[in-house]
Amino acid sequence: MRISPSLALVGSGQIGLSSRFDCHLYAVQAPEGVVLFDAGSGLKHDWVMDHLRAEFADLSRGAIVLTHAHPDHVCGAAALAEALGWPVYASAIAKRIVEAGDEAAAGLVATRAMGGYPPELRLRPCPVAGVYADSEPLTLCGFTLQPLAVRGHSPDSFVFLCELDGRRTLFAADVVFYGGILGLINVDGSDLAGFRADLPKLADLGVEALLPAHGLFTLRFGQRHIDTALAQLAKGFVPRMIGQGDIIL
Ligand SMILES: [Zn+2]
Repeated sequence: MRISPSLALVGSGQIGLSSRFDCHLYAVQAPEGVVLFDAGSGLKHDWVMDHLRAEFADLSRGAIVLTHAHPDHVCGAAALAEALGWPVYASAIAKRIVEAGDEAAAGLVATRAMGGYPPELRLRPCPVAGVYADSEPLTLCGFTLQPLAVRGHSPDSFVFLCELDGRRTLFAADVVFYGGILGLINVDGSDLAGFRADLPKLADLGVEALLPAHGLFTLRFGQRHIDTALAQLAKGFVPRMIGQGDIIL
């Protein structure tokens, strides 16, 4: 599904493009290849491949960027990396989890026990070719990203700032969603202290396109949603978070 000239959505459980257990998988036509953000659950990785083939003429070069090591983002990494022959990039923490296939550290064991994921969803170990770090520019296929570490959803969560199709764009992973909703969840590693410490990094970025890994995305006024989250976080109550009432992601 084409979002803007260089940007496509090639997987999503909510929109019905791939497994219902997949986050949004965004893909960018970079100058020298295709950059894919996250890898989904792996349960319908062949559907993701079909969308990639439909949206991009040349898949001979590319890279997969993992935003954090949660199951709906990384369990498809091994299958997609093998099918595409593309290198995988992750943070140092996520690299350890993904290369070891550490289902406990990925939150898969706990979430499976809660009934959140089916038994066939597994974290198959996947080699990680490159590690990115906070505020160190990462250039993949001629496309430069600014990774920003924002803890709170998970200890290894990163968002990526870039210029894309003339817009200041933030790939927001599970950190902050449309409407200023925070990605605070009831699993180990998620806490408000992380958001309080790191979310202010996203103030005053002038974000136009906000591309979270679940729910709505927007191509305009993305900073408003971030500012809403920051304003709520500055008060003495728990802010709006995913999974509550009508906020189903
Ligand atoms: Zn997550």
